[in-house]
Amino acid sequence: MQTLVMILLVAAVVGFIAGLRLMSRTHTARLGNLISAGGMAAAIIGTLLQLQVIGILSPTALAWSLGAIGLGTLIGIPAAMLVKMTAMPEMVALFNGFGGIASLFIASGEIHHAGAEIGAFTASAAFLAMLIGGITFTGSLVAFSKLAEKIPSGAVLFKGQQVLNALLVLAVVIGLVVFAAMPELAWIFWVAIAAAAILGVLAVIPIGGADMPVVISLLNSYSGLAACAAGFAINSPLLITIGALVGAAGIILTRVMCKAMNRSLANVLFSGFGTTTASSGSGGPQGEAKALSTQDAYYVLEAASSVVFIPGYGMAVAQAQHAVRELADTLAARGCEVKFAIHPVAGRMPGHMNVLLAEANVSYDLLVEMDDINPTMGSVDVAVVIGANDTVNPAAVEDPKSAIAGMPIIMAHQARQVFVLKRSMRSGFAGIENPLFFRDNTSMIFGDAKATIEALNGEFKEG
Ligand code: NDP
Repeated sequence: MQTLVMILLVAAVVGFIAGLRLMSRTHTARLGNLISAGGMAAAIIGTLLQLQVIGILSPTALAWSLGAIGLGTLIGIPAAMLVKMTAMPEMVALFNGFGGIASLFIASGEIHHAGAEIGAFTASAAFLAMLIGGITFTGSLVAFSKLAEKIPSGAVLFKGQQVLNALLVLAVVIGLVVFAAMPELAWIFWVAIAAAAILGVLAVIPIGGADMPVVISLLNSYSGLAACAAGFAINSPLLITIGALVGAAGIILTRVMCKAMNRSLANVLFSGFGTTTASSGSGGPQGEAKALSTQDAYYVLEAASSVVFIPGYGMAVAQAQHAVRELADTLAARGCEVKFAIHPVAGRMPGHMNVLLAEANVSYDLLVEMDDINPTMGSVDVAVVIGANDTVNPAAVEDPKSAIAGMPIIMAHQARQVFVLKRSMRSGFAGIENPLFFRDNTSMIFGDAKATIEALNGEFKEG
């Protein structure tokens, strides 16, 4: 039995490492996800068997464990099956939060179970798991509410905010030191839970607008670190390893996101999006935006020899990816060179556009990263912007006062002609005006992106 337990636990770790590795490539991501899920199953079975071997798995504990697994499955499967593609980022944020509170519960259980007998090391690890887990939970709830637009998505800053944060951090650090030295003072631990919950909210409310991708990946990393600390608290090498993997992957993703925004992490965490610069930075409307009918757009596309599709969040909202693939196929069959330009923060979660386009079976070879497509944009006949806004806003590279100044964008405006498919002149997630819409080479095709692309497909069929 002991050997079986070892095999299962090693299989779990190998499954997670292999799964993560496979998830780094679009075409192996699904397999990676499956292998990681298999790793999780091995981890659960291995842990239950291990508890049985050391004789601490009472029938009541087993019933509780199976009940919790059953309840989680009952909630998780419908949630994952029914979630709309547009609500995926919120769900990811919420699940990050659940990871955080799970670690908090593990830590609280250990404190409750060990009582005053707990050693300084275990007490410190449990305290850290509670602290990071609590911050992750409430921080993720705020991120979820911002992404779901249940609360305003902008940065919320108030006077004395950083001083308050610093005082809270100081208080919990003192709490950690005192609790590690005197674990019989259990009340410190319970008070610190409240402080962690407040810190989570205070840490995320000043981050908003275009900075949200960074906070999502950072919370992802925190949930891993909390699990890692919980692993130390209950002496579980499996939890330590898995937590460290998630923590490290989250940190790497945070770096990628910061690079994509051309911001330092400190700048994102402490400056507040758009609050240190001029409001929109674009100086208000820059003339008249020109509207174009789908029929006129068809004539232009029909004659184009190179077209770059630039998808953004609006493509996810419209669920236009299948219609877009059909249009891309039609253009390619007519000898037009077709590519998809992918901005790392387009949509509402890392890899959002890749997921949507993969679902529509767009060939991976057609997806071109921002840094690779930009040098070629000047020679593109038509750039078709499908529900993207902030990620093609030229103010980022032309207006140093813009709230998104310095953020790399896809240089749609450099194409000979630009079609922007959106429903209105409303701004994107960052809430700032986009001068691209007023450029001479830009035409707005108003309407739901899916309806517009389907109308274009219809024109090609008739034509
Ligand atoms: P934006 O959020 O900037 O803009 C999306 C545009 O889509 C809107 O202007 C909207 O205009 C349009 N739209 C919405 N619904 C439809 C529809 N049915 N048909 C056509 N158009 C539609 O999108 P981007 O992808 O360019 O930028 C992403 C933004 O989100 C960035 O600011 C990024 O920082 C942020 N973000 C990204 C995250 C990530 O991890 N990727 C996470 C959190 C935030 P209209 O209403 O007029 O139709």
